[in-house]
Amino acid sequence: MASTPQDTLFIAGAGIGGLTAAIALSRRARPVTVLEAAPALDPIGSGLQLSPNAIHVLRGLGLEEAVRRQAVAPEAIRVMSARTGKPIAEIPLGQTAETRYGAPYLVIHRGDLQQVLLNAARASAGIDLRLCTRVRDARQSADAVQVEVETDAGIDHLSGGALIGADGVWSNVRRRVMDLRQAVFSGRTAYRAVIPIEAVPAAWREATGLWLGPRAHVVHYPVSAGREFNIVALVAEDWQEESWSTPADTAALLARFASWPAECRDLLALPNRYLKWALCGMDPGTSWVNGRFALLGDAAHAMLPFAAQGAGMSIEDADALARAIDTTDHLPNALARYQATRQDRAESVLRLARSNDRVYHMAGPLALARDTVMKGLGGERLLARLDWLYGWRPPEGR
Ligand SMILES: Cc1cc2nc3c(=O)[nH]c(=O)nc-3n(C[C@H](O)[C@H](O)[C@H](O)COP(=O)(O)OP(=O)(O)OC[C@H]3O[C@@H](n4cnc5c(N)ncnc54)[C@H](O)[C@@H]3O)c2cc1C
Repeated sequence: MASTPQDTLFIAGAGIGGLTAAIALSRRARPVTVLEAAPALDPIGSGLQLSPNAIHVLRGLGLEEAVRRQAVAPEAIRVMSARTGKPIAEIPLGQTAETRYGAPYLVIHRGDLQQVLLNAARASAGIDLRLCTRVRDARQSADAVQVEVETDAGIDHLSGGALIGADGVWSNVRRRVMDLRQAVFSGRTAYRAVIPIEAVPAAWREATGLWLGPRAHVVHYPVSAGREFNIVALVAEDWQEESWSTPADTAALLARFASWPAECRDLLALPNRYLKWALCGMDPGTSWVNGRFALLGDAAHAMLPFAAQGAGMSIEDADALARAIDTTDHLPNALARYQATRQDRAESVLRLARSNDRVYHMAGPLALARDTVMKGLGGERLLARLDWLYGWRPPEGR
């Protein structure tokens, strides 16, 4: 049966979740229009972690190989103490994770992942991707939505069957269209840099490093198929700005880490320039769906990146959304089903990220106790504690 304009699903945002959802819907022959505010999808950002749960979805969409070509499968996460400069634990990834979960644990530049998704979306039937198109507002009736967009040509109104807000942490669909509480600044800032791998000591080129210290931690890993190195310092500080790429004061950042072990300081000193990003989060418990409006990814459940699942959860959401829409032509029912499938899991991950925030930034005797517990458990058992997260798989079949 030919599709009508009323069947069109609008997705606000061609980020990680929005593009994945568009591809998953296109695989189910659903027409999708993706409305993206940015004039071009430039490779802004730095590294992302993609755990096996997300890779299973990408595999189902036929994108695993393209993602692997741009990514690295780190052999382990080396958890390091900022107090002693010594390892606390080594959590095995590499072949261990792949065997345990049936898919690899990868690290990748956000720009590379977005490009893979963009190529797939452009090659997919039924996806109309419109750049330079900002969703300003929307209204719904019993059988349709009307979306107000702003383009270079002015304001336009589009009619379709549903609007999915995949427009990220500062989602306008969440704030304006659905009138929900917006994400709040968390009092944490991420300082990010990507540098050529040649500058990095060989010992750190194939693993993920996680340095735990009082009120700060540092994460680093290779990206860009091993050609580049991503380093992020996450610190407790009360700076607030809605931007992914504010230039940071590198000297002030290095001064903040002056008492940290030399090995970590040397890594932090490698980039000439950092960009900073004020981290935001949301409280669990808000509905993501209202009739023909729904939220996905950070727009639904923005979380601190301390469980490394922001991208993973948006990819899982995208899969669940497409499956729910595939089950019925009644879009409000499909969206309600999508939320029912996803909310508990996404909010469990959000809580994990908050708990990691407390644990990673401990000081004094608490930090000592944390290190003793982690050492006692050892890497294999630390990994096993995350089986519920990494061991998730999409349902069998369509
Ligand atoms: C530019 C950028 C850089 C990032 N860099 C990193 C990083 O280095 N490391 C990391 O861990 N996470 C990064 N993130 C966040 C990360 O992508 C998300 O946490 C995760 O992937 C889940 O994203 P999402 O799919 O919910 O939305 P996102 O991937 O954040 O995408 C949201 C999209 O919506 C678009 N948009 C926003 N408002 C509107 C509107 N009103 N109308 C239409 N489109 C709109 C945005 O331009 C963006 O393309 C970045 C996000 C962005 C947008």
